[in-house]
Amino acid sequence: MEKNISPLQKPLRYVKGVGEKLSLLFAKKGVGSVEDLLFYLPRTYEDRRKVWNVSEIQMGTRGVVVGKIARAHPVFYSKSRKRTFEISLEDVNGKLGSLKLTWFHAPYLAKKLKEGTYVLATGQVQGYQSSLQMVHPELEILGAEFGASVTGQGIIPIYSETSGLYQKTLRKIISQAMKEFSVFIKDPLPEEIRVRESFPKVSDALKFLHNPPPITDMESLLKAETRYHRRLIYDEFFQLSVGMAMKRKAYVTASGIAFSKPQKFWDVFKSNLPFQFTNAQKRALSEVLQDMQSSKPMHRLIQGDVGSGKTVVAAAAALVALEAGYQVALMAPTEILIEQHRRNFEKWFSGLGIQTAFLTGSLKAKEKKAALEAIGSGAASMIFGTHALFEEGVKFANLGFVMVDEQHRFGVQQRAALLNKGKSPDLLVMTATPIPRTLALTVYGDLDFSLIDELPPGRKPVLTKVFRDGERPKLYDRLRAELLKGRQAYMVFPLIDESEELKLKSLNEMLPSIKEAFDGFKVDHLHGRMTSEEKASVLERFRSGEIHLLVSTTVVEVGVDVPNATVMVVEHAERFGLSQLHQLRGRVGRGAEESFCYLVASHLGTPEILQRLQSMEKIHDGFKLAEVDLEMRGPGELLGTRQSGLPVFSLARLPRDLPLLQMAKKDAEDLVSRGYDFRDSFEKIVLN
Ligand code: ADP
Ligand code: MG
Repeated sequence: MEKNISPLQKPLRYVKGVGEKLSLLFAKKGVGSVEDLLFYLPRTYEDRRKVWNVSEIQMGTRGVVVGKIARAHPVFYSKSRKRTFEISLEDVNGKLGSLKLTWFHAPYLAKKLKEGTYVLATGQVQGYQSSLQMVHPELEILGAEFGASVTGQGIIPIYSETSGLYQKTLRKIISQAMKEFSVFIKDPLPEEIRVRESFPKVSDALKFLHNPPPITDMESLLKAETRYHRRLIYDEFFQLSVGMAMKRKAYVTASGIAFSKPQKFWDVFKSNLPFQFTNAQKRALSEVLQDMQSSKPMHRLIQGDVGSGKTVVAAAAALVALEAGYQVALMAPTEILIEQHRRNFEKWFSGLGIQTAFLTGSLKAKEKKAALEAIGSGAASMIFGTHALFEEGVKFANLGFVMVDEQHRFGVQQRAALLNKGKSPDLLVMTATPIPRTLALTVYGDLDFSLIDELPPGRKPVLTKVFRDGERPKLYDRLRAELLKGRQAYMVFPLIDESEELKLKSLNEMLPSIKEAFDGFKVDHLHGRMTSEEKASVLERFRSGEIHLLVSTTVVEVGVDVPNATVMVVEHAERFGLSQLHQLRGRVGRGAEESFCYLVASHLGTPEILQRLQSMEKIHDGFKLAEVDLEMRGPGELLGTRQSGLPVFSLARLPRDLPLLQMAKKDAEDLVSRGYDFRDSFEKIVLN
C-alpha cells in the first residue's frame, strides 16, 4: 500500500496547541489521531443563548449563570452530620445578589475553585432558606478574568472529560482541529445515497455537532434527531453493513456443495423419532434443505426458544450430508451438552450404520489419538465435539457440513476456524438465547435466519415465582412436596465456593444445610471443576432418577434434558440476566407434569432489580424477555462478554435507530452485490 497517508491519520500533536501532555490525556479517551478527534462527539449540549447574571436569576428556573466566586469551602453540618462543599457566587457586575452552589461531595474541580475565579454554573435554581441555590450544578471555570461577555455564546457542546482535560480545552482543541482538518474529510458515502436521502456532507454534520448554530432546536439536538445526526448514525450502520455484506459475498460466491435430497436415511430416521415435527420445525428444515441443495454454501442461523426442538432439525439436516458421503461436525460449548447431543443423535440414527467420533478437551491421550485418526481417515462421519474441534491438530477427511449449537458462546473466529477445515462446507448455527431482531441484524447480519416459533405440543408454561431470601422455608416446603410426588429438581448457585468479596451463597457452603433440609431424599451436586467422568456419572444418576435433587452451578444451563425434573430453583437470581434465567427455567417443563421455577432474590439493591425478576413471572417468551433485558441492562449484558461480534456505536442507539439500520443494510447489500468499489469510501473499514 502506498504510504501517502491522509492528514486525518496523523497523530494528534499535529493539531495546533496539542503537545505531549494533551496527547496523553486524549489517549486515555481513545483519541489518538486527528480523525479520532474530529469524531469525538459531544455527550450533550448546553443552551447558553441566554446567560444570566447572578442578580437576574429567578427561583424555579433552569439556566446558565455567570458569577464570581466569593467563597468556596467544605461545610460540616453537625446536626445532620452531613458534609457538603459550598460556593457563594456574586454578580459579575457588582450588583446585589448571590447564589449558593452546593455539592454533597467535593466537586472534582474543587482545587481550582479559588476566590475571585469566574465560573459558569448550569442547573436548577432553588430557594434555600432566604437565598437561592443550585445543587450539583455543572460547572465551567472561566478563569481569573472576565473580559468578553459570555452571554450569547450560543449552544455549547459538552464533551466527556477526564482528569486534567476539561471543557474549555476540549472545545478549543476540537474547534481548532475542525478548522484545520475538516477539509480533508472524504465523504465515505456513495454519492447516489447522499443524493437520494438529501444527506448533508459528513464534514458539515461534524461541524454542526461540534458547533450547533444558535437557531437550532434544543430538543431535537438533545434527542439526536437532527438531519446531521441521522447522517452520522446512518454512516455507523453503513460501515458495519458493508463489512457484513462483503463477508457474505465472499462465501455466497464461493462454490459449495450441492447436496441431493436424502432418501433411504430419511425413512429410517423418521421411524426412529418418537414424535412428529411441529409446523415450525418443518418450515425451518425446508429452508435449511433448500440451502443445502443449492451450490452456494449455506450460512444459516436457527433461532428458537428453549425447548423448541432445534436439535432434531439439525439432525435431519446432518443426514443429508451424511447420506451424500460427507463428514458432519457438531460443535457445542460444554461437554454435558455435546454428550447429550451424541446420545440423541445415536438414538435417532440407529440402524443407519453411521460411524461417530467424539472429541473434547478432557479425553485421555489414547482416546484422543483414536478420535483424531477416525476423523482424519474418514472412518467416522458424524463428529461431536467441544472447542477441541477447531484446534489446529484436527484434520477432517471430507468435512461437508458444520453445525454449531449455542452459537453465541463461540467467537466468530472460532466458527471460521472450524469452517476452514472443510472446502466451503455448509454452516448451520443454533441459538437459544433469542436476541431481539434489532440486535440480531448487527450481530448476525451475515447469516440467513430461520425461526422456530412454536413449542412441541403439550408444553405448559413453567409456573414462576420470585422468593425473598427470608422465604426459603416456604420455598423448601413447596420443593419437598414435589419431590414427594416422585419428581426431581435442580437448585442452581452462581458460585462453587464462598467468595469473600462477593458475599454470595455458594454451592459448597450451602450443600450441607440443603442435605439436612432434604433428609430422606438423595441430594447430589454438579459443577464445572469436577472431572468429566464425575460429571457424567452424576448426570446419569440424575437422569435415571436415582438422584432427586441436583445442586449445581450453571453447568446445567444448556442441554440437560430430564423430563421428570419439574422444579428449578435459582439462588441469587438477581445475579443473572433474564435470558439466562429463561435458559435455566427451560430445564424444566419438558414432561407432561406441571413445572415450577423459583427465583430466590437475596441482594436487592434497587426496586428495578425486583421488577426485572418479576417479569419472569409474567413473561414466558424468550424473545420478549430478551427485549426486556436489552432495555434494562443493555446489549453487552444480554449477550455476555464472550460475544465478540457486537459493534460499538458512538451515536447510534438501538432499537431507536432501527429504521436507519435497515436502510443501511439494504443499501450496503445492494451496492456490494453490484460490485461497487468501496476503496475510496473507507480507509478504516474493518473486514475480518
Ligand atoms: P432446543 O431447541 O432448546 O435445543 P431441544 O432440541 O433440546 O430444544 O428439544 C427439546 C426437547 O423436545 C427434546 O427432548 C426433544 O427430543 C423434544 N422434541 C423436539 N421436537 C419435538 C416435537 N416435534 N415433538 C415433541 N418433542 C419434541
Ligand atoms: Mg439446544
